[in-house]
Amino acid sequence: MKVISLIGARPQFIKEAVLNKAFKKVGVEEIIVNSGQHYDYNMSDIFFKTLGIKSPDYNLEVGSGLHGEMTGKILIEFEKLTMKINPDVILVYGDTNTTLAGALVGAKLKIPVAHVEAGIRMLPKDMPEEINRVLADRISTYLFCPTQRSVENLKKEGIEEGVYFTGDVTYDLYLQMEKDFDYSLYNSLNLVGNEFVVVTIHRDYNVDNKTQLRNILKALVDVSRNKKVIFPMHPRTRKRIEEFSLGEFTEYFEILDPLDYLSFMGLIKNCSSVITDSGGLQREAYYAKKPAFLLMPDPAWHELVEKKMNFLCKPEDLVKMMEREKDYKHIPYIQGKGNAAEQIIKILMENQC
Ligand code: UDP
Repeated sequence: MKVISLIGARPQFIKEAVLNKAFKKVGVEEIIVNSGQHYDYNMSDIFFKTLGIKSPDYNLEVGSGLHGEMTGKILIEFEKLTMKINPDVILVYGDTNTTLAGALVGAKLKIPVAHVEAGIRMLPKDMPEEINRVLADRISTYLFCPTQRSVENLKKEGIEEGVYFTGDVTYDLYLQMEKDFDYSLYNSLNLVGNEFVVVTIHRDYNVDNKTQLRNILKALVDVSRNKKVIFPMHPRTRKRIEEFSLGEFTEYFEILDPLDYLSFMGLIKNCSSVITDSGGLQREAYYAKKPAFLLMPDPAWHELVEKKMNFLCKPEDLVKMMEREKDYKHIPYIQGKGNAAEQIIKILMENQC
């Protein structure tokens, strides 16, 4: 079996780390294609280095741009490359423009597409990630679902064929890497456990709108009166803060460049809670037994909100909501055993070989 994994953005690099290792273990040839959607060192290369992923075999170097431009460029270049490589299956991950472009190329060339993280529904329906996810799911041959809820979501969308519950590859990664988490930043910043929060914000509805972004930064200034605010900042957020001249707020926070996974998780393991709009971090906070306060209209992981381990907030009630930190109870809900990557590969091998 010859597999292409198409990746291009930070959440995909970390998932690739798990799949890459599992493919190696069973001796399956995996060709890694990086679309180049995320290209800053801290958003891209650093993950290959620190997580031991083999360097991409090809880089399409599409860079940033408008959604159509980015998706279009990947379509053009990835189609040509795929025709040359002629793989048995194309793996796409998550919900970015890279995911959608990869799925479209596979479907049009009649090469089976395997979608890792299928069925994770997120509102608003018009957010770019949800559009990418819905369309990729519609044309994928294999839909690998991290939770039973995502299986149900697909059913509601009329998709039942090719759907497999495998568990979550980010849980695999957490378990595999926990022993290597890097605590040097925690030490060098002189942080004290439970006296700091980690913030990541980058979704379009939070950072592309000046009023919303200002409200979030103001709320974080309020949070900073009680807790140190550690803010590894996504390049997009940094850009918007500059464009909207909101820099005055940032002096209340410890602003960091985006971190590698091991250093990032070293902070998450010790913080009192996280404030985020990241689908990945919602889960990782849960794995690390930390509450997550979500600045989102709707979470990717409804189960965690229902079980009161993630809390949906508006910027104006963030400080109040954070009083719930002390009532946090860790309730096991994990479905899957931390062997999602193995399951995925087993299913592919059974069907493709
Ligand atoms: N992450 C990281 N360093 C950071 C911020 C995030 O390594 O400074 C990791 C973290 O594991 C997270 C993943 O990158 O789950 C993807 O994060 P992002 O918020 O970019 O994407 P999303 O999960 O929202 O699609």
